[in-house]
Amino acid sequence: MPTTVILGAGIIGLSSAHFLARIAPPDHRIHLVDPAPELFSSASGKAAGFLAKDWFAPAVASLGALSFDLHRALAEEHNGRARWGYSESVSYSLDHTYHSDDSHADTPTSVPAPVPASSDLGATPSESAMRRTQGSDTPSLLDGEPGTEDRHGDPSGLNSGLGQGGLDWLLSGASRATAATEGPEAVEKAHSESAPASASRDLPPWLLASPGALEVLSDRTSTAQVVPRRLCEFLLEQCLAAGVTLHHPARATTLVEDESDPGGARWLRIEYTVPPQSRARAGTVDIPCENIVIAAGCWTPRVYATLFPNASRMPRIAHLAGYSATLRTKHWPPPAVPDGAERAPGPCHAVFTDAAGFAPEIFSRANGDVWLGGLNPPNTALPALPTDAHADPAEVARLLAVGRALCGDDVEVQGHALCFRPVSATGRPIIARMHEADLGDGLKPHGHGRSKDGRGGVFVATGHGPWGIALSLGTGRVVAEMVLGRETSADVEQLSRW
Ligand SMILES: Cc1cc2nc3c(=O)[nH]c(=O)nc-3n(C[C@H](O)[C@H](O)[C@H](O)COP(=O)(O)OP(=O)(O)OC[C@H]3O[C@@H](n4cnc5c(N)ncnc54)[C@H](O)[C@@H]3O)c2cc1C
Repeated sequence: MPTTVILGAGIIGLSSAHFLARIAPPDHRIHLVDPAPELFSSASGKAAGFLAKDWFAPAVASLGALSFDLHRALAEEHNGRARWGYSESVSYSLDHTYHSDDSHADTPTSVPAPVPASSDLGATPSESAMRRTQGSDTPSLLDGEPGTEDRHGDPSGLNSGLGQGGLDWLLSGASRATAATEGPEAVEKAHSESAPASASRDLPPWLLASPGALEVLSDRTSTAQVVPRRLCEFLLEQCLAAGVTLHHPARATTLVEDESDPGGARWLRIEYTVPPQSRARAGTVDIPCENIVIAAGCWTPRVYATLFPNASRMPRIAHLAGYSATLRTKHWPPPAVPDGAERAPGPCHAVFTDAAGFAPEIFSRANGDVWLGGLNPPNTALPALPTDAHADPAEVARLLAVGRALCGDDVEVQGHALCFRPVSATGRPIIARMHEADLGDGLKPHGHGRSKDGRGGVFVATGHGPWGIALSLGTGRVVAEMVLGRETSADVEQLSRW
């Protein structure tokens, strides 16, 4: 009976399990393994959830378009708006140095220094000094020294070739909006699509900014949003309903051979990590194993090295930390959709700017949250597990100061988070079947020896950097197709080179 074990229950592992369960023959057994005591404590549960159709480098473009369509189709099929906050989104870039022509001020009204590490709310413009986006032309907002502080060249030491992967904006501390407006195709597109926000009917009502300071980057047809944790929960629910077995908290420790089996069957040993006195399952189980998919985000190299210690070559994945905060403001109330309402819901908003020494990105979500991020300290160590991440209070305060300057002093802080993006050496995701030679001379799962058609074996799906939510469903679909030896729905040829 064919069996696939997926290591990592972040959004990439979940999407892979979900699509495999959908398209594999009914006798194909699927296992999902994750050691974190709390699922979705990684980037997959804490990210912003911004989706774009065509903001990607050429090597990723086909996957990006497939994934965007799959997000929309899944949301339509399962009421994604209510279940995981799927929504169309409009996107803006915010020029924090903007001054309207009729401003009476001779000097900038924005804050002249970077927002300090400790929250200095005295420096935050109060709401009374600002007017809301709609009906206001008051100059705003933050100021600082763009190009200083968190501008960092190469946090991972891996960014050679990042221009190819399209992640150079991330590693240089710029905003993802750069991806929408750089590169020859994007420049052409930006010329045809970007427009002053005053022409837009969908301005963010929660943002302290003049319409003149905003430029439309995308309309609601090519960008969208989800609440990533809710999407992960939905995918897991679907997987379990389809018969996927979850091993959690647990990790794969080694491949073992069944000596009594003339065919030399291989098993993957799974060790449960809960203490024996806990009421949860403990101990080890051996799972027959034809295929392994390693989708453990930043922890992928550790998993690979554990299972294939003699490998001559391993996927190199660096981590890039990201702080975020979730806010509530009375200017973006949670939606109260009356039963039977036929009016189409308005879009969510994405705003990208450059202030206070980093590149804040801020999103209003369909569930009434406002999510703020963009603060990515480069030298933050990767914890042993996502649940071991500890946010630095000074960085959180710095982010919140920006949130208050952008949304008003009266925002309610719902929570904050620190999580890690997996970044590959090329800056592109790795979606690949490993060659025999890359696994070393130890035991390999059965699929590798058995199939002559390139089907089965060991697959790696990781390195999605800042786009893992957007690319998740497309990646899952393609991984499932690769495991089954089928033609892939997107051209991922270049993503198999790592
Ligand atoms: C602040 C921030 C904002 C972001 N915003 C966006 C956005 O708006 N849009 C977008 O598209 N992307 C966004 N991203 C990127 C996106 O979150 C990531 O690319 C994506 O979540 C990566 O998913 P993953 O499943 O590969 O990894 P992860 O989410 O890191 O999951 C990896 C899993 O592997 C598990 N694991 C660890 N060790 C082992 C082991 N030994 N065996 C098995 N499993 C193991 C972990 O417990 C975890 O569950 C953002 C990222 C950050 C940090």
